[in-house]
Amino acid sequence: MSSIILLGAPGSGKGTLAQQLKTKLNIPHISTGDMFREAVKGNTPMGLKASSYMKDGHLVPDDITIGVVDERFTKEDVKKGFILDGFPRTIPQAEAFDSIIKNKGLKIDAVILLDVDQGLIVRRITGRRSCPSCGNVYHIETVKPKVEGICDSCSTKLIQRKDDTEEVVKERLETYEKQTAPLIDFYSAKKILLKIDASRSPNYMMQQLEVLGF
Ligand code: AMP
Repeated sequence: MSSIILLGAPGSGKGTLAQQLKTKLNIPHISTGDMFREAVKGNTPMGLKASSYMKDGHLVPDDITIGVVDERFTKEDVKKGFILDGFPRTIPQAEAFDSIIKNKGLKIDAVILLDVDQGLIVRRITGRRSCPSCGNVYHIETVKPKVEGICDSCSTKLIQRKDDTEEVVKERLETYEKQTAPLIDFYSAKKILLKIDASRSPNYMMQQLEVLGF
């Protein structure tokens, strides 16, 4: 069983790595960003609230985010392990998550920090395209679909996320530095933090994880 948190700046490759790990380990991939985008698409009351923060590159408030994760962890499938992508993003979220899993007798096996230079991130994010239907992620230069602009898996037209523009990316990176980077020390102190070089290809990241036992 593996219970993994992927930690890293926006555009460090958490989503892509999570997809590959999900296939390899056959455990659920839980992305709070995907859950919020789903809620925005469905025009739910929570989606309406979340979208006002997301479009400016700010974090959705902790109480809403923790509530979403708490509810997701009532499902049975997390008992066989999980890959958390984009959560926690603040110290209060990390503390709340500790209580959520403790109550269920679960624990975190590893927090994997995806280490990457910020200049590379801006290029990566602004070239990113994703499938609104199945969630697959591509890049206009490095991870091209077989047919330009079309998802390999489900043939849906690819889109650019509204928050993947250069202006919003800069804001998201600042938010990461201020609110999320402190989690590096938080999990280092618990001795469960592993660091990988995320400036290379997704396959290379998977190889590094294999060496680490995943
Ligand atoms: P992501 O796809 O993980 O980059 O998330 C997209 C956006 O959703 C973020 O920029 C935030 O506005 C919001 N979001 C996702 N996860 C969280 C979280 N753990 N805490 C607060 N906001 C989040």
